[in-house]
Amino acid sequence: MKRPKIVVLGAGYGGLITVTRLQKQLGNNEADIVLVNKNDYHYETTWLHEASAGTLHHDRVRYDIKKVIDNSKVDFVQATALKVDHQAKKVLLDSGELDYDYLVVALGGVSETFGITGLDKYAFTISNINSARQIREHIEYQFATYAVEEEKNADRLTIVVGGAGFTGIEFLGELGNRIPELCEEYDIDQKLVRVICVEAAPTALPGFDPELVKYAMAHLESKGIEFMIGTAIKEATPEGIIVAKGENETEEIKAETVVWAAGVRGNPIIEASEFENMRGRVKVEKDLRAPNLSDVFVIGDCSLVINEEINRPYPPTAQIAMQQGELAASNIAKLVKGNTNLDSFVFDNKGTVCSLGDDDAIGVVFGKKVTGTKASFMKKMIDNRALFMVGGVPLTMKKGKFNFF
Ligand code: FAD
Ligand code: NAD
Repeated sequence: MKRPKIVVLGAGYGGLITVTRLQKQLGNNEADIVLVNKNDYHYETTWLHEASAGTLHHDRVRYDIKKVIDNSKVDFVQATALKVDHQAKKVLLDSGELDYDYLVVALGGVSETFGITGLDKYAFTISNINSARQIREHIEYQFATYAVEEEKNADRLTIVVGGAGFTGIEFLGELGNRIPELCEEYDIDQKLVRVICVEAAPTALPGFDPELVKYAMAHLESKGIEFMIGTAIKEATPEGIIVAKGENETEEIKAETVVWAAGVRGNPIIEASEFENMRGRVKVEKDLRAPNLSDVFVIGDCSLVINEEINRPYPPTAQIAMQQGELAASNIAKLVKGNTNLDSFVFDNKGTVCSLGDDDAIGVVFGKKVTGTKASFMKKMIDNRALFMVGGVPLTMKKGKFNFF
């Protein structure tokens, strides 16, 4: 009998957990497992704000996929997935086609620009290794150029961060530590540097504990970061951004660096493949399958799971993607073994910790608020745990964060 072929798209948090669990749960003769990813490396998306600011080298943030999978059981294909044809049960790749019996879509998200003019052209996003490297290089180039130019362009030393959600705040935390280093390196007076965070909602980190938000803002402001809260970015231009002021007015903020960190939507493949979706995310069934598709599982940022307590979607996080990866693997293993009684996904929310640079953080862990060194320690333990879950002790020792104090 032909072995079923399981294709996993994406080697991020969700995809790698799925594959590493499948390779344990299924024998070589039970199924063929194929993992497809754009790059031959996995990157820790949750560490990209550090690589973007330049506080952590991008090589620390990534590792070779082939080193963490069982290559005798999993066939790794480096390719870009373009579209899923559910009728024909095929995935179209930039290098050919792959057919499947079971498919896991774990391709992550992309930046959500809400159609705001100019963002795609003039703003950076913290999305992957390439974009992180580009932001780091760009900021450094502005400092280096300012140092040599005769007619000084002050806008080179202005950085705008769009959005004070978790990504924006974590990036600001890194900038708070990186800017003094850059000023020292390029002999620039730190008073000339402006880092401005523009947030549309009436508060930073909307929905998060107000006391912790106050702590985070005070910490970042003490590092010189300015906040424009309740202010929406309306446009990005070659010179900077335009923000809304009052009912009908606008204001221009000149900046040579604009980093857009105001939310994500699912991978465009979801829309291109005509899955039922909301902003590129598939509202999955309880067993994580796409509606009306008994052989397609969708997990991570491409999926949408409703928190029934508040009747709103869970925010897309690595935490949920990894838990979904575990369940997708065990449900597929069941199907392969002929058991159609699949388990339902129940999110086990362990809490949220948001870093404020390498040395400070805020969080709610198992319902308890934490700040300062303790929170920072926890954040690093969470980062290490993600490595451990995929590559055990060797990967954790190689890539982990152990600079606790
Ligand atoms: P990802 O981990 O993003 O992986 C997607 C994979 O698919 C990547 O390897 C990518 O290269 C590959 N891929 C994409 N398109 C294609 C294609 N067309 N073909 C082939 N391969 C492709 N969440 C938390 O829980 N805690 C945090 O502390 C946290 N911090 C964050 C910090 C930052 C700066 C950011 C940006 C996000 C953070 N998040 C955090 C959110 C979290 O990173 C995402 O929710 C998580 O990465 C989603 O996992 P995923 O498996 O869906 O996708
Ligand atoms: P987000 O949706 O959480 O926050 C985006 C922010 O941008 C919001 O505060 C929103 O009001 C603001 N915004 C939207 N439009 C704007 C505009 N026109 N002008 C100014 N501000 C605007 O998105 P994110 O921060 O990118 O996070 C994406 C996902 O990743 C979330 O699910 C988040 O929970 C997760 N994440 C988690 C962590 C962590 O747990 N430490 C860290 C980073 C990201």
